Amino acid sequence: MKVVVVGSGGREHALATVLGRTAEVVVTPGNPGIPGSACLNPAGPLDPETLGPGDCDLVVVGPEAPLVDGLADRLRARGVRVFGPGADGARLEGSKAWMKDLFAEAGVPTARSASFSDPEPAVAFLDTLGDLFVVKTDGLAAGKGVLVTTSRADAVDAVHEYLSGAAFGDAGRRIVVEEGLTGPELSVFALADGTRAVPFAAARDHKRIGDGDTGPNTGGMGAFSPVPDAPDDLVGRIMDTAVEPTVAALAARDIDYRGVLFCGLMLTPDGPRVLEYNVRFGDPEAQVILPRFRGDLAALLASAADGALGGGVDLDPGAAVTVVCAAPGYPAAPRTGDPIAGLAAARSVEGVTVFCAGVAADPTRPDDADALLTAGGRVLAVTGEGPDIATACGRAYEAVGCIHFDGMQVRTDIAASAR
Ligand code: AMP
Repeated sequence: MKVVVVGSGGREHALATVLGRTAEVVVTPGNPGIPGSACLNPAGPLDPETLGPGDCDLVVVGPEAPLVDGLADRLRARGVRVFGPGADGARLEGSKAWMKDLFAEAGVPTARSASFSDPEPAVAFLDTLGDLFVVKTDGLAAGKGVLVTTSRADAVDAVHEYLSGAAFGDAGRRIVVEEGLTGPELSVFALADGTRAVPFAAARDHKRIGDGDTGPNTGGMGAFSPVPDAPDDLVGRIMDTAVEPTVAALAARDIDYRGVLFCGLMLTPDGPRVLEYNVRFGDPEAQVILPRFRGDLAALLASAADGALGGGVDLDPGAAVTVVCAAPGYPAAPRTGDPIAGLAAARSVEGVTVFCAGVAADPTRPDDADALLTAGGRVLAVTGEGPDIATACGRAYEAVGCIHFDGMQVRTDIAASAR
């Protein structure tokens, strides 16, 4: 099978690596650290918009933006087999107000909320909540559009700043205001084929830049899977009460959802509550759940794309931990252009895979595929696998210890709670 993966980050490197066990894979545009990246092709990257059914057997769309923008629809209209929802299903991630309406329809357990385009009713609703306030942009805001605060004044300011367009442009001109929940967070990844959903794996990520969950939010500084406080029966309950009702509610709206349902939950004292769905694999969660997959990922994703998912997903019972190496200044203003050293040594550590994200080729060393420069905020995701979290974690950190670039930021406590 020939598979085209759309995207350019660590998630796409993980997809390419695991798909590559059984398929021929091209990642477009990819990046110079992902073998088989279209950006390495002297003829230039491959425009996914131009793909036809004769070009490949399957397209896997990595990030949310092209899904929300309808890439999967345009490809399907040309007869291309695609893993990833159309623009209608991608509204789950593209509009939180739409998502919350669907939750209400499907009976998905979630935080009490309402959506607004005017400040007065939004502030009145805030005053019906407890002492933890949450204000979210309706639209995509690069993971930054959520404020969680105990300060009513800050929440009221956010309502005005979001709705005026000052904070997040059009993404914030509609907002969701909701009650704050507490508890550990959990990510459950499922695959859907339009009518059925099967659980893939659970993972937990670390969003803050600093050890002990301090400092600003990031795209994710590390992740681990499995999650000890999320045993299979809890994941089964989440499938029954959240994911399957979501697929049914989508189908009832004539939305043929074929792709990933990434369910972000909070395990509250009153039980699991869904905070959000994303419509693609997480980054860096993909770098821990995909390596654990045993079997033919290309065939599995193709069966979802065909509306013909079979039985369950076979995962390695062991563990995977990924540690992100981020550029200095990340997340506010990452510095780029620093040479990366030690990749070969890191890869030689038992059970380790190094996934490349924000990297560029070093033009001064064109003959060395490992001659890379930092080129983004999150530069590498170093995944260790092993029979248990402690072993996987030890391997990931041993490999991280081999890697160097100036100002590299790494959390030292990834998966510490699970070791
Ligand atoms: P979301 O994009 O909706 O997942 O929100 C991003 C992050 O904000 C989540 O991972 C949580 O850490 C936090 N968050 C979102 N909604 C709530 C809520 N209702 N209560 C507490 N924290 C929340």
